[in-house]
Amino acid sequence: MDPLDPCHLSDDALLLDAKSTAGLASHATARLLTRIAEIEKRRLFLREGYASLKVYCVRELGLCDEAAEKRITAAHISDRFPAVLIALADNRLHLTAVLMLGRHLTAANSDELVAAATRKTRFEIAMELARRFPRPELPERLEPIVTTPPMTMAAPPATEPPAPERVREAIRDWLEGRTESPVLPAPEPAPERVLAVTQDPCGPAPERVEAPRPRMTPLAEDSFGLQVTINRRTYELLQKARSLLSHQIPRGEMALVLERALELAVEELEKRKYAATDRPGRSQSGGKPSRHIPAPVRREVRKRDGDRCAFVSESGKRCESRTRLECHHEDPFARGGPATVENTRLLCAAHNQHKAERDFGTEFMERKRAEAKRNRKGPRRNRPHDGKAHAGSEQPDRPHTGVIGTMAGTVPSYFQQRF
Ligand SMILES: [Zn+2]
Repeated sequence: MDPLDPCHLSDDALLLDAKSTAGLASHATARLLTRIAEIEKRRLFLREGYASLKVYCVRELGLCDEAAEKRITAAHISDRFPAVLIALADNRLHLTAVLMLGRHLTAANSDELVAAATRKTRFEIAMELARRFPRPELPERLEPIVTTPPMTMAAPPATEPPAPERVREAIRDWLEGRTESPVLPAPEPAPERVLAVTQDPCGPAPERVEAPRPRMTPLAEDSFGLQVTINRRTYELLQKARSLLSHQIPRGEMALVLERALELAVEELEKRKYAATDRPGRSQSGGKPSRHIPAPVRREVRKRDGDRCAFVSESGKRCESRTRLECHHEDPFARGGPATVENTRLLCAAHNQHKAERDFGTEFMERKRAEAKRNRKGPRRNRPHDGKAHAGSEQPDRPHTGVIGTMAGTVPSYFQQRF
């Protein structure tokens, strides 16, 4: 039997084995850190013919450059703070957590910080650190950027491409209304994107022309750095919102404009997705059995489940998902389950599928998935619900398909319609 092949394990044994393997891996990482620290102290890499510990780690220990750097830094941290090393060996802290805590650790706070970071995601640890070690707010900035046109095998341009700074200036003039159109030196790069940088955690304006990835960085308990690339349409909407809000927000601070715009958007989206309303009306389902979940039921379910997936594992662990939520018939509609508050739960799409597979069997669901895929590829008139299930087009207090969110046309909505 291949010891690396887990196929022979039962479900419970597989989960236990994965936990035990992760524990062994964490212990091995902690052990490796102590060895790296000791090799550095004895400067053994020199004797072995390497000028640095990092090169030794790459060539002799088989680590990549980044892994070597991380482990050397973590070795320094864990050498100074035994609580960190023990937590890593016990699989309470991951290596990234050790690196994130590193600069904030002192002899006095190490136990407390280790406890705060135990079994947390990178973002959750950043939140814990931001709360304890707040950073000042970052300056607001909105910068135009130019995306590099895709490379082709065509002949090279006759003229030299324009300097990025000249292009940026031309686009900035255009965006700020100083010119009618972006007068770009030939050959003209595509002015496709505008980089909106609000409270950029990276500091000074970047010189790069490629759009950076979106980033959300906790700065303090109640403030976050946000860096995001937006297209021209979004830029125009942002400027329009600034103008429309200029009486309420005279200085046009982007953070305040975004807050107000998002408040309005969330209000509208809640109305569409959850049938939220200040004046609940009567359901139009008329008491006839239907898989449609009436708006009052959806409102109650949403309130009861707290906008979060209500799936709870056998060991009592509740799912943390708050996205792609759908209303689920606990007792399936196909088996006579009513669309009542008691029989309806909010589930994420993954758990909705999981429950459906438990209710109807994996084989049946796979067949339905294949059918749904074929129907999506076919002519529009042959599609099972022909757009009627689109949650985004529903009005409050109108019959609902049971799908929350913009899931129309996806497998889950199909199943909810066809069972
Ligand atoms: Zn879930």
